[in-house]
Amino acid sequence: MSFPLDARARLTLPDAATLARHDAAVHRLRVERDRALASVPDLEALRDHAAAIKAHALDHLDRYLEEFEARARERGAEVHWAGDAASHNRIVAVLLAARGATRVVKSKSMLTEECGLNPALEACGVEVVDTDLGERIVQLGGEPPSHIVVPAIHRRREEVGALFHRHLGTPAGESDPARLMAAARADLRARFLAAQAAISGVNFAVAETGTLVVVTNEGNADLGTSLAPLHVASLGIEKLVPTLDDLAVFLRLLARSATGQALSVYTTLLTGPRAGGELHVILVDAGRTRLLASPVHRSALRCIRCGACLNTCPVYRRAGGHAYGTSVAGPIGAVLAPALDPDPAARALPYASSLCGSCTAVCPVRIDLHGQLLAWRREAPALPVGLRLGARVAGVVLARPRLFRATGRLLRRLWPLLERRFPGNPARAWLASRALPPHPGPSFAERWAARSAHTRPRVGGGDEA
Ligand code: SF4
Repeated sequence: MSFPLDARARLTLPDAATLARHDAAVHRLRVERDRALASVPDLEALRDHAAAIKAHALDHLDRYLEEFEARARERGAEVHWAGDAASHNRIVAVLLAARGATRVVKSKSMLTEECGLNPALEACGVEVVDTDLGERIVQLGGEPPSHIVVPAIHRRREEVGALFHRHLGTPAGESDPARLMAAARADLRARFLAAQAAISGVNFAVAETGTLVVVTNEGNADLGTSLAPLHVASLGIEKLVPTLDDLAVFLRLLARSATGQALSVYTTLLTGPRAGGELHVILVDAGRTRLLASPVHRSALRCIRCGACLNTCPVYRRAGGHAYGTSVAGPIGAVLAPALDPDPAARALPYASSLCGSCTAVCPVRIDLHGQLLAWRREAPALPVGLRLGARVAGVVLARPRLFRATGRLLRRLWPLLERRFPGNPARAWLASRALPPHPGPSFAERWAARSAHTRPRVGGGDEA
């Protein structure tokens, strides 16, 4: 039996070349992150500070949510509360229907992915156009984003060219990034101008001022929300920070951790609607208060969606984001999914980790990601029967030294068989992408016994000179 992740990974990255390209592309982001953060003085203190602000905000979330709501209303925004994804989607649909809006532009928002907003609106006859370039690529390809910062990182430019040829009429075989980008821009520009409403995600929300903070590299959120008369902002309740000073701490970490930029190209602070426009903010729970109530898992809500843990994760890099089957992939996705995703298969995701701890090492807000994965394994065990049986047998063998030695001798004899990839060999899938280390020879205990016999001092012996 294999996890669904195995099967999905084979579909997403089907051959060694695709896998190696994906691995290298994602790892480049990790390298850029290291380079950018190396120049930040007192980086570790800054990370501690960021973690402390988030922990404080979560400990007092009720207060900060009410403060945000009051300030946002004072500045002219409407604030709605959504307990789950369905009610979030319903609120958006009602707002659009009340204004007869059927053409909508949307900037990148993992929350709307999590809520399944696009299909919900399309079912109501609304055309939703994703305006982030990566999001637009995956939308045209009919697939979900595979990375929270770089949604189309799994696609080669030749594949994007073929997609644009089909949907945007670019010349067949065109794969020049600049020309493809120009075609996407021209197509999107017309859609921005025709949009009757803009939907955006929110990176941070400042309680003391009722401000929404939207961070992009393309300015697409700014263009959409400046042109359309209605702006609907989808905001996860965990995105609250108390003050503008606190916000500055996260802005120093976010882009550096994500892509290695000192700052994203556009950091927009929206306080109230634009002149003549409407702003509706939907505060979404969708399982977050369940996490908040758990002393073990609460820290997962500190996440600022920088993607650094994905970029460093050996499983994510070799499996691809679609393998996870959730809106947020990688280590943080595997931590959030058991709480936020109703699909029972999500309980298996905490096993999609080598527990190497690299995710924890890079997280700018110090989420103990691999500790969280272990906690989920304890709380919601989802091991396949074969692995459960194996763990039980290992427990019996490891507790009995003589049995352990005998098993070791037997396995060393069977070693050559393990290396052969014959059908039915249980290690075949494992060996498909790994080489076995050389045969270990005698066991440590055997070597120790031989060495001790060789060097044992002779009783009553003296100098032989
Ligand atoms: S868990 Fe940490 S490293 Fe991963 S996306 Fe969130 S903030 Fe970034």
